[in-house]
Amino acid sequence: MSVTGGCRCGAVRYELALHHLPPVYCCHCRDCQTWTGAAFSQQAVLRESDFALTAGRPALFELTNPSGSISRQYVCGNCHTRLYNTNSARHGLVVVRAGALDASDALLAVLHIWVKRKQPWLELPEGVPSFEESAPAEAFLNLVMGERR
Ligand SMILES: [Zn+2]
Ligand SMILES: [Zn+2]
Repeated sequence: MSVTGGCRCGAVRYELALHHLPPVYCCHCRDCQTWTGAAFSQQAVLRESDFALTAGRPALFELTNPSGSISRQYVCGNCHTRLYNTNSARHGLVVVRAGALDASDALLAVLHIWVKRKQPWLELPEGVPSFEESAPAEAFLNLVMGERR
């Protein structure tokens, strides 16, 4: 079994070399709200070697973060669905926009970050770690990657 996903129009498809859906983290920051047009973004962190495009060639949008790292955002060039990104500061990892996974109705959120920007009507479940801003790198990778680290 593998985990698959793709854009809204179907031009770009990908496959993850995993037996189960990866856990996701939710980011409630303003950039994510702007970028998704939604209350928060959902992301899964993958090893680059566990991610493979199976159809299409995504378009690239590159930007430099305030920290100086370069973020490469891959979208479908046809329907403009945001699909995944890489970051020069996190070599070897791919961050997948989990809402574009085919089984996005079965995702499990294991972490919430930037909850100080959270929509006020949204209540987070008890027992799921959450941080006012970003999570410390160690905690972040342990929660979202676990034994895949
Ligand atoms: Zn598309
Ligand atoms: Zn964010």
